[in-house]
Amino acid sequence: MNPLTIFASRFVAGERPQDAIRAGERLHAKGIKATFDKLGEDVLDAAAAKRATEASMELLKLIPKGIERNVSIKMSSMGQGISRDLCLENVSGILDCAKAVGGFVRLDMEGSRLTEDTIGIFHELRKRYDNVGLVLQAMLHRTADDVKEAVRRGDRIRLCKGAYREPASVALQDMAEIRAAFTACAHRLLDKGSYPAIATHDESLVKGTIDYARAQKIAASRFEFQMLYGLRRGRWEELVGAGYNVRIYVPFGTHWIPYFYRRLRERKENIAFVLRNLFR
Ligand SMILES: Cc1cc2nc3c(=O)[nH]c(=O)nc-3n(C[C@H](O)[C@H](O)[C@H](O)COP(=O)(O)OP(=O)(O)OC[C@H]3O[C@@H](n4cnc5c(N)ncnc54)[C@H](O)[C@@H]3O)c2cc1C
Repeated sequence: MNPLTIFASRFVAGERPQDAIRAGERLHAKGIKATFDKLGEDVLDAAAAKRATEASMELLKLIPKGIERNVSIKMSSMGQGISRDLCLENVSGILDCAKAVGGFVRLDMEGSRLTEDTIGIFHELRKRYDNVGLVLQAMLHRTADDVKEAVRRGDRIRLCKGAYREPASVALQDMAEIRAAFTACAHRLLDKGSYPAIATHDESLVKGTIDYARAQKIAASRFEFQMLYGLRRGRWEELVGAGYNVRIYVPFGTHWIPYFYRRLRERKENIAFVLRNLFR
């Protein structure tokens, strides 16, 4: 049996773009939006970075009319680790393609060794494009300042906790502190941000966002919730039913191991799911 079927099918929509698009169509039928991610990261070969770039461009063109053409990319798969110029050229190509089809591109945030560079490239791209957004990770000490700057600049931000293991010199380690930092950043983005995405499965943060938006009279149309494919499916529909925008991150492709590993590390129930299927 294909290993994807055994291990990762809960978290990854399939190996081919068509698999992800089918998942996107199923979500669309329920009023849920999607952002599609061709899995891949840490590419150190220029030809492979070019192939990853072309795959994202193809994907943008494949998404049928009627479904938002929204993709998420990891710049480390577009040559970020080779040279800044190569990465800028590749990502600009994707943004041109997105612009031509009315699409939007979100730059995922990776480990902290890339944060400064990722934000720098994003600012460079923003001089020429308005169809690009960034991810900021609440656990990083620097993020409160990055959020302030993003609000000042009118950048579109997805706020998440941060999925990478980071040292205490760079990031908060305690979950209560990470939640508090997330909440402070989310409030700032909700108050003055440009259509922020609140990306979490953490019910205390989802509920906190709803309560804050209600108290501040922030319309549900001014932000969206984002969750990952395969996690808390029931909650997606509840939120849509209550009038909130919800977008699901739909990953696909053959390079699923690092993504899958991060999901397992986050939550022991995810490991139990895999073990149950392995012994079935
Ligand atoms: C759309 C999206 C995009 C992301 N993009 C990035 C990115 O670019 N860079 C990055 O570093 N990270 C990214 N992440 C990952 C993120 O940083 C976290 O690692 C991940 O979301 C886990 O944190 P959490 O806040 O969702 O909840 P967790 O800290 O995993 O869980 C906290 C609590 O939430 C509840 N919960 C969690 N999962 C479930 C479940 N399946 N069912 C019921 N309750 C549950 C439980 O109460 C749990 O105790 C993204 C996440 C999302 C949702």
